[in-house]
Amino acid sequence: MTAHADAPTDGSSVLTQFRFGPNAQVRVIAGVLAAATILILVSLPDSGQAYRDAPDFFPLVVAGLFAFSLLAVFHVEFRREALTFSLSEVPIMLALVYISPVYGVLARLGGSLVWAMWRRVTPFKLVFNLSTFAFELAVAHAVMRAIVDVDDSSNTLLVIVALVAALTGSILGSFAIALAISRFEGGVLVRIVDEIRNSWILVVNAICGAVLLGLALISLSSAVLAVVPIGALWLVMRRHGELAQRLRDLDEVHGFAGRVGRSLDLDEIGHAAVAEVARLLRAKAAVLVLTAADGPNAMMVHGEVPAHVPSDPAHRYWRELALGEQGAQVIEGRPGRRNRPAVPETILAPVDDETGVIGILLVAGPDGVGQHFGVDDVDQVVNLAEQLAASLRKGMLHRQIEHEARHDGLTGLPNRNAFEYQVQSVAHRDDGRNTYLLMLDLDRFKEVNDTLGHHAGDDLLIQFSRRVTSRLGPDDFFARLAGDEFAIVAPRSTDDDAIELARSCIEEASRPVTLDGLSIVVTASVGIAELDPDEADEGRALRRADIAMYNAKSHHLGIEFFRAELDRRTPARLSMLGDLRDAIGQAQLHVEYQPKLDLASGLVTAAEALVRWNHPVRGAVPPHDFVRVAEETGLIKQLTDLMLSDGIAEVKRLHDRGHHLGLSVNLSTHDLLDAKLPARVAGYLEANDVPAHVLTLEITESSLLIDAPRTRTTIDELHEMGVRLSIDDFGTGYSSLSYLRQLPVRELKVDQSFVANVLIDSQDEVIVRSTIDLGHNLGLEVVAEGVENNEILERLREFGCDMAQGYCISRPLSASKLLAWLNVTSIPSLRHDPLDLAAWEATEAERWQRAEDRRAPGRR
Ligand code: C2E
Ligand code: CA
Ligand code: CA
Repeated sequence: MTAHADAPTDGSSVLTQFRFGPNAQVRVIAGVLAAATILILVSLPDSGQAYRDAPDFFPLVVAGLFAFSLLAVFHVEFRREALTFSLSEVPIMLALVYISPVYGVLARLGGSLVWAMWRRVTPFKLVFNLSTFAFELAVAHAVMRAIVDVDDSSNTLLVIVALVAALTGSILGSFAIALAISRFEGGVLVRIVDEIRNSWILVVNAICGAVLLGLALISLSSAVLAVVPIGALWLVMRRHGELAQRLRDLDEVHGFAGRVGRSLDLDEIGHAAVAEVARLLRAKAAVLVLTAADGPNAMMVHGEVPAHVPSDPAHRYWRELALGEQGAQVIEGRPGRRNRPAVPETILAPVDDETGVIGILLVAGPDGVGQHFGVDDVDQVVNLAEQLAASLRKGMLHRQIEHEARHDGLTGLPNRNAFEYQVQSVAHRDDGRNTYLLMLDLDRFKEVNDTLGHHAGDDLLIQFSRRVTSRLGPDDFFARLAGDEFAIVAPRSTDDDAIELARSCIEEASRPVTLDGLSIVVTASVGIAELDPDEADEGRALRRADIAMYNAKSHHLGIEFFRAELDRRTPARLSMLGDLRDAIGQAQLHVEYQPKLDLASGLVTAAEALVRWNHPVRGAVPPHDFVRVAEETGLIKQLTDLMLSDGIAEVKRLHDRGHHLGLSVNLSTHDLLDAKLPARVAGYLEANDVPAHVLTLEITESSLLIDAPRTRTTIDELHEMGVRLSIDDFGTGYSSLSYLRQLPVRELKVDQSFVANVLIDSQDEVIVRSTIDLGHNLGLEVVAEGVENNEILERLREFGCDMAQGYCISRPLSASKLLAWLNVTSIPSLRHDPLDLAAWEATEAERWQRAEDRRAPGRR
């Protein structure tokens, strides 16, 4: 074998800055080898003579064999080392015996030229290779002639000496190559030691040559016989190499999806992916460009973006690549010219997730001197891109849900959730300024909406939000809370500065707006309150700003700064009753579903239905604000009916699509007081052909205390039907344990206020842990709600909690999003096989069995 030099095509630009860069050094090595070759040939005795006679055309045959052995080279991996397997020792040994040194070297050079032209080897690499090849053969000849005379020699001696000679030449040649490569990549000694360790494969090759030579010495034509076993050996090695490579690839690729899919965060997925891809392909750079129309334009890079592609992910180039349907592409490598940078060999593959191409995966320049990507590598990149698609789609969905959860769809501003979060996080500022909350409300918005229509109303809100945004400072945070209600968190040094900001907002509102061709003037009212850093509940500052705003509006003041006496004079703001009645009639209410995760199996086995109200003017009204109103006015019956009917119908639809989930629906106290509730529930279950045990009804702890005998009857009836019962918000009420013990409940939900602080507040940790133990002692399944991150999830798992629900698993989702979420897979480290009925029943039974097993002796 010769580890025929995959010598460098060109030096890296940094190195060529030195006067005597690696390219020049390699040229010197080549020069030394060529000179040594000539010197040896000239000084050899009888250098025009061969040991044995052969037909005149024999040098041509040997040249052909040289060319063939170079073309048929392949790599095998053995004990993690890449070995180059070639058969060049066979022609070398024939040349040593049948051709004179000078003609032998010429034959070898000729054969190598054929190879170089076939493979389009660069001149630089060719010169180096030719001098190494010539040198190897010259050294081998020198060894031969030093041991055996040309005219007296036995066949046996010839074979043995030729073997030693060929080996010596090849080993010296491989040192020269190691030396050349080390000019670019460093590590001379390591490389030479490696060559020595791997020289056993040279021995194998040389023995093949010896067998052939031995036969040839008996009769030249019998040598043809040896072609069969040698060819067979060659084929076996080659197959073995391919198979081992494929197994290794498979193994790597298999791990790839797992490693990349560990996160839900799009950036993390992308960065993990490019790092992995670069590692797997031994590439200098790997780049992932996200091009999906419904996703962000983003670029994740490992290494550096190659100069021949745009580094802007929004560039037309990427979009066009994504739109073109040609599959993977390979861009051939080119050395750099005077003022054009070198182009590394590049593979481009589309990331296609069935809905279309969502990104482009680029891999550039395999590491190592002058390496090329192989055909297999292209397949592998395509394969990795395929694996990546599901994780990326999952990350995009996650990002979209996160964004929607924090932003208002109409204006794109942060929404109420995001605003409250912001208020919390700026409560303690240390730049010496105060934090003010400004509550803004348009004065005649309802009229605009009613007379010009929702479309005009939307337009007004958008224009207003843009104008106010233009007046804000860099630290101000502007959000749309609901309908025509906006708010600003503004750091300002003095009250006057805050009032100045309010004034500029009012000014913006009162500049005429053109809606449907009409010029309209609306005014706004602003309430201001200062955030008190010592106040534990930031929500109270929001309420103060709200009260001030309400006062400004009702007294046509424009701006009002909160004063304590305002508080007493403010009537209840929400005149929601009429609105809510309409809402139920006009289908403004809808249901969202929040997945519940079974911690032992990692399966999502249920979802909680949560009501949502999209008020045409107020926007999203939080359930806390209107559920109470509904309870007080008796509208809760309709609301609960809506939740039951929509929820159960949705569960049925999901079952039909192969996702067997349980459904939790919240009940209010008033529902429990209604003796007809069990019949209503039964009606919806039957209408949808859904078995009762699929449904869990959540009852808050406090509602159990009201009129216990009546609620007790309802609870017992529901239980007898097979409906499951759950105690919601556990820990916030004061239910007596003895009462809990008698109730036929199955599940306890630890209130989210404890769960949220479980990692930071040791008291909350104790409460959560003891609630879990308590529940288990009672033979109940325990659910933790409000689980916002993975650390909490892990802690709960350690505590032996049975189920978890919260933002870190998923936010509440609309029915269609839930289905998409279930399909796209859920959470990393969790299982996401669609649950068929049997798997669902089994998981439920296992959890229940555990609860039964844990029940303290003597209970129930
Ligand atoms: P709940 O029954 O305790 O519902 C859980 C609440 O926690 C939901 O708020 C949910 O969106 C929120 N949540 C879920 N995961 C997390 C998390 O990781 N972090 C935080 N901070 N919150 C999380 P939502 O939808 O605003 O509902 C609030 C309350 O309104 C519910 O509390 C429930 O008492 C009531 N409610 C909601 N829908 C209905 C309904 O259909 N009927 C009745 N009677 N009450 C309902
Ligand atoms: Ca609940
Ligand atoms: Ca709850």
